[in-house]
Amino acid sequence: MLTKQERNQGLTDVREYDISQPRKARIKESTRMTPLQLDVEVRHILLELDGDGLDFVEGQTIGVLLPGPHEFGNDHHLRLYSIASSRRGETGSKSVISICVRRCFYIDDVSGERIPGIASNFLCDALVGDTILITGPYSQHFIIPEDDTSNIIMIGAGTGIAPFRAFVKHIYVVRRGWKGDLRLYYGARTGLEMLYMNIINNDLGQYYDERTFKAFRAISPRPHFDLPPALDGLLNEHAEELWALIDKPNTYVYLAGPVQAVNAFDKAMTAKAGSDAAWMEKRLNLLQRNRLFELIY
Ligand SMILES: Cc1cc2nc3c(=O)[nH]c(=O)nc-3n(C[C@H](O)[C@H](O)[C@H](O)COP(=O)(O)OP(=O)(O)OC[C@H]3O[C@@H](n4cnc5c(N)ncnc54)[C@H](O)[C@@H]3O)c2cc1C
Repeated sequence: MLTKQERNQGLTDVREYDISQPRKARIKESTRMTPLQLDVEVRHILLELDGDGLDFVEGQTIGVLLPGPHEFGNDHHLRLYSIASSRRGETGSKSVISICVRRCFYIDDVSGERIPGIASNFLCDALVGDTILITGPYSQHFIIPEDDTSNIIMIGAGTGIAPFRAFVKHIYVVRRGWKGDLRLYYGARTGLEMLYMNIINNDLGQYYDERTFKAFRAISPRPHFDLPPALDGLLNEHAEELWALIDKPNTYVYLAGPVQAVNAFDKAMTAKAGSDAAWMEKRLNLLQRNRLFELIY
């Protein structure tokens, strides 16, 4: 669980986003993806939009808007959620999209009180048929290469899997016949927290048969361990392969989820590069050439 200070680093400032035309969306489905006995609750939520479908691409987010007044004088509470569907929508229609929401709680620094996050609890409590307000889509999208011989590296943890689910669906269901390699490196505290890759929802498992797709999963050695050590280990173990792939001019890297996942990647690559400066130079080069994308929170 994050402290208030840690959490505030990734907060969304409502003033940075256009919320002038919110749209109504109905909760079409809400399924818990983590078992009841786990303290972590993550839900796969299908939203059905009123009117026209939503025009978006993989890696984009929607805003969930809760009209106020809220604490600290906010008129609106806006939080972003990655769209987990490909641009075709969840059911082949752009009117139905999915998001993957983790129910958040925060510890108040002063009182030590456990405080429920506003938007995530609102979404996880919402019932089928309820109507919510959404905004966006907002940019920060992942550019998927035109050339289907390109290699794709996806690295993330937790709900950072959402844009990768969209990505994999786009590549194997919409684009089809992808020839380059897709590599997913994903970290979770337990096997049951492997979102879209566990016994409750194995949506991504159906692509394991694709010749070009490989998913590597990092599970913390003991459930109470945090994510970073597990993902650190996985990325260190595969650093050689990652480095060789990144060296190819047709390889693209996508990072998504909590900042710890990015730190784990940077640490593994710094070790390969030999120094911080050498990796930073290479990283900047990748960013400038649109070969590295980050969706961090
Ligand atoms: C680009 C992007 C993509 C994202 N994608 C996803 C995603 O796909 N899935 C997902 O689950 N999340 C995602 N997030 C995170 C999400 O936007 C929210 O930040 C998260 O759900 C928590 O929001 P909340 O409204 O529940 O918490 P908030 O209510 O915003 O609480 C956050 C902060 O407010 C403080 N606070 C709240 N109430 C009180 C109180 N009463 N007194 C004192 N302090 C208080 C807390 O300490 C904490 O610091 C994404 C974020 C970004 C930026």
